[in-house]
Amino acid sequence: MDKDTINKLLKAGKVAAQVRREGAKKLSVVGTSYLEVMDYCEQRILQLGGEIAWAQYGVNDVAAHDCPTEETKETTKEGELVKVDIGVHLDGWIADNAMTVEVGSSQKYYDLIRASQNALKAAIKLVRPGCPLWQLGEAQYSEAEALGFTTVKNLCGHTLEQYKIHAGVSVPTFNNKDKTELHEGWQIAIEPFVTNGQGLIKEKGEAKVFMAKINAVGRSPYARRVAEFVKPRYGLPFTIRDLTRNLGIGPALLGLRELQKSGIVRAYPPLAEVSGGIVAQFEHSMIVNDKPVVYTRQEEEEW
Ligand code: MN
Ligand code: MN
Repeated sequence: MDKDTINKLLKAGKVAAQVRREGAKKLSVVGTSYLEVMDYCEQRILQLGGEIAWAQYGVNDVAAHDCPTEETKETTKEGELVKVDIGVHLDGWIADNAMTVEVGSSQKYYDLIRASQNALKAAIKLVRPGCPLWQLGEAQYSEAEALGFTTVKNLCGHTLEQYKIHAGVSVPTFNNKDKTELHEGWQIAIEPFVTNGQGLIKEKGEAKVFMAKINAVGRSPYARRVAEFVKPRYGLPFTIRDLTRNLGIGPALLGLRELQKSGIVRAYPPLAEVSGGIVAQFEHSMIVNDKPVVYTRQEEEEW
């Protein structure tokens, strides 16, 4: 990996970490609007000199892929467990990171939060060229188990490449026997999802996050407008509220539906724990090395 690329990752990582922390802090206060905070996070990424890859959140049993629409009225409630997942890029070089906070002061999920932090920390400690993926999974799983929880088996970390969020290799959250070894210079994200439920997720509710599978072109006028709008985001997700705000609800939804039908755009519905278990998630991105460069970690973070 050349110096210029590394510098882009370091800068994207710095912005991603700061926005993640600011977003999580805001959402830890009772009565905060999810919509306002997600808008804030997006604006803040730009303000700090990054490009928006995504700003998503998940509440309680929802592990990932949720974000507000223009209509979202929900505010944070005492005791909700909130994940904030922020992606920032520079020229497509992505920093992906997440953290979990409990709303208010009840601290019902103190151990669950700690288990996910411990899992991330334990896995990062093993990162070096030659480390097999199963070991990273086992480390995460045993930390979750040590505090009486389990990991979500069908969610995993991943390699990253320029404009590729999931670049082909999955980092398991349990020992899945994958002997694939880490290579020097790989960019990976590790993200233990830890739950007090069964440890599996499924899609739940309507998608608010989408991604074009191929460079989008549309036939009808509406589809063409959506395609034009999402073209600069090829390789990155886009949100329904970004579309409706810019194109209007009617044209956005009609155009989007057409692009989905023709297989150009794929929907990513929210992912929720199958048994309604509460899910905590912590995530860092890093460059694999004898001493991995964890480029989304802030100094005071011990995970
Ligand atoms: Mn993430
Ligand atoms: Mn990730």
